[in-house]
Amino acid sequence: MHSLALFRRRLILWFKQHARKLPWRNLNDPYAVWVSEVMLQQTTVQTVQGYFNRFIAAFPTIQSLADSELESVHRHWEGLGYYRRCTLLHKAAQEIVSHHGGVFPNNYNDALNLPGIGRYTAGAILSIAFEQRLPILEANTLRLHARLLAIRGNILHGESNARLWRFAEEVLPRKDVGQFNQALMELGSLVCTSSSPKCAECPVVLFCESAKQGLQHEIPTVIKKLPKENRTEVALFVRKRGRTLLMRHASGGRWAGLWDFPRAQTESPETFTTDQQLHRRLLDLTGRKLLPGKLLCTLKHSVTKYKIMLLFCEGIDAGRSNTTPICETRWASATELRKLPMNSTARKLTGKQVEIR
Ligand code: SF4
Repeated sequence: MHSLALFRRRLILWFKQHARKLPWRNLNDPYAVWVSEVMLQQTTVQTVQGYFNRFIAAFPTIQSLADSELESVHRHWEGLGYYRRCTLLHKAAQEIVSHHGGVFPNNYNDALNLPGIGRYTAGAILSIAFEQRLPILEANTLRLHARLLAIRGNILHGESNARLWRFAEEVLPRKDVGQFNQALMELGSLVCTSSSPKCAECPVVLFCESAKQGLQHEIPTVIKKLPKENRTEVALFVRKRGRTLLMRHASGGRWAGLWDFPRAQTESPETFTTDQQLHRRLLDLTGRKLLPGKLLCTLKHSVTKYKIMLLFCEGIDAGRSNTTPICETRWASATELRKLPMNSTARKLTGKQVEIR
């Protein structure tokens, strides 16, 4: 690459002119940087902005986050998805309170030892909030660096990935590292975009091997994902004395800690009301004999590797069984339905209940 000093100057000049005003920028608060970085994993900047402001208003300090019930923290995360991030954020806040006096550690290894914090997040927090000379590599910078160096193949693993980390380290300036790292991410996000890199507007085009060779649309190599698996699930709307039966997803599974209507997979979507396996699954999950009835509505959605057709139907509760349930259950009042943290489909269905009745 030509002079790294010139690369840095051009990048910073561009950043000063084009950086978006984001609520977590210029705060120099490790907690705010940390929350924003965790939210931005798998979620767009646009979506995160509103969530970030509400989250920080509800939990303004690490101490307040650690002291809050996980259920309340989940409620503020509702809709952002990947709820494990939120559970680990809460757990890490409690560890910071117990082991670091409630202050985010400025030591790299201490930060890395916290739940949910990997090499990228530790580098981002410590470089942005403490000006430590640490590299970062996330989705935007992975793509940007792979193009700058014209690296083909799988950049997520092996030697290619190690080379990108080395580059992310070499390219760092001696000071204002936080600003520099943010500028790299911003350039990846706004200019070196995944589907249409704007090379004509790029401040570092002179340094880019892919642009030189006309490879910007081929790099990074797209790793083909396996097609999603279709499955059908049934969720039951069971009412008793004005309350609605909910189950809480058990730890370790998808939506761990979130509330949902009793819900399980069926292999017989046409005849699900008499599907004995479905009855068994619902019994195992809730410890109650639940019988699916009339179909109320259907919802299509995707979760991880599944494309799900969700059949929402009336349900009859035929009482408890002796089975120890996998999930906690409760009969929720209308107020609790609004307050409890739920996965997105359950939240949508709570809205539909009003229409259905
Ligand atoms: Fe990306 Fe094009 Fe800039 Fe290279 S020149 S870094 S491909 S936008």
